[in-house]
Amino acid sequence: MKAEIIAVGTELLLGQIVNTNAQYLSQELAAMGIDVYYQTVVGDNASRLQGAIELASQRADILILTGGIGPTQDDLTKDALAAHVGRSLHIDRLAMDQIERFFAGRGINMTENNRRQALVIDGSTPLPNETGLAVGLALAQEDNFYIVLPGPPKELKPMFDQQAKPWLLQHALTDEMPIYSKMLKFAGIGESLLEDRLLDLIDGQTDPTIAPYAKEGEVTVRISTKAPTEQEAMEKLNAMQGQIQSRLADHMYASMDVPIERIIVDMMADRGITLSAAESCTGGMLMESITSIPGSATMFVGGIVCYSNEMKEKLLHVPHALLEGDDAPGAVSAEVAEVLAENVRMITDSDFGLSVTGVAGPGYSERKPVGLVYVGIAQRGQKTEVFELKLNGNRETIRVRSVKTLLYRLWQRLVSTDRATGESKDQV
Ligand code: ATP
Ligand code: MG
Repeated sequence: MKAEIIAVGTELLLGQIVNTNAQYLSQELAAMGIDVYYQTVVGDNASRLQGAIELASQRADILILTGGIGPTQDDLTKDALAAHVGRSLHIDRLAMDQIERFFAGRGINMTENNRRQALVIDGSTPLPNETGLAVGLALAQEDNFYIVLPGPPKELKPMFDQQAKPWLLQHALTDEMPIYSKMLKFAGIGESLLEDRLLDLIDGQTDPTIAPYAKEGEVTVRISTKAPTEQEAMEKLNAMQGQIQSRLADHMYASMDVPIERIIVDMMADRGITLSAAESCTGGMLMESITSIPGSATMFVGGIVCYSNEMKEKLLHVPHALLEGDDAPGAVSAEVAEVLAENVRMITDSDFGLSVTGVAGPGYSERKPVGLVYVGIAQRGQKTEVFELKLNGNRETIRVRSVKTLLYRLWQRLVSTDRATGESKDQV
């Protein structure tokens, strides 16, 4: 099955709004195993819109139109589609009732053009709008399936998810086997390097399919397959997961769509070990990411944002000689990262202490380049580790990447500690 998304709206062409509907729909359709070959954007113009529908109906089985179903004269989508399929429009009674109730409930007089929002094409299935007024529709004619959705994302998403998707599964995908997917999550590796390590698998992929995509500081790989039963699908997916994992064992932290902080919180909570943090350039971002995870209260004890040198000295007892003076390494240094991690661990009496200090930019600091960051990991009874990072990007991405890299290093440390204790247990 091939689909085409047609986003309607002159605002899109003028660059006043971003076509996030196409992004959302493409992701949803991919997850359903439907190929999207084209995304089209067309303005609020009847003849060009009809032209776009005509073209799409020749090269796709499923056409999904979004936008232009409101009350005003520039809302032309349903008229254009009705003309294309050679059918008339009529008022859907249920949708009209909803619109009348809406205006009556607010004590406002309804203008006549609001009736347009209740229009549907003859013979189509109305798709009720639970978060707005304009009714959507689904229609099968000859070899094509047509879906019309509202423009506002908060209306489009629930209508697609709850109405259009089940309709498509029932009418358009009847002969197709269901699709099953698994999300594998990676940290400490960029998308291009990850792809390189999997290149032969990705190039030769037919089943399961492998689709990597990157977020800031983490990479997701979705593996998908079609199978008659879940069990058969899982056998194929698990085999592929095994192959991928064997190549990227140091980086794969989960086989579901969770951030790395979730895995760290769970691991530390399970093992009854605690964490603290001292943050300079990330200003609390690390602690925010940990404490956003439910259950972090059992493992995270607290920390200090020590942005200025004065606070590094006063609250975390970093020696003045490390921070200032001609021969001092300076606040952005391995030495200071080490002291910060060790001292925050001792002050809070936690098992692990983390630290971040660096230049987020823009502009140099201490004559050190933007993107130079030191992260430290102190552990009770163990040697402190410090990593020097040279990150690219703007202030925001450097801060996020510092946090993600430090979390990745902590995860590695936890995994290797597990491995060491697991091995020693085996030996006993
Ligand atoms: P309305 O009843 O609000 O007129 P509509 O279905 O006619 O809804 P449009 O008039 O095309 O839709 O767009 C309304 C608003 O929805 C836009 O101003 C924009 O905020 C949002 N929107 C429309 N199309 C998209 C799109 N492709 N991606 C993201 N947002 C969109
Ligand atoms: Mg509109």
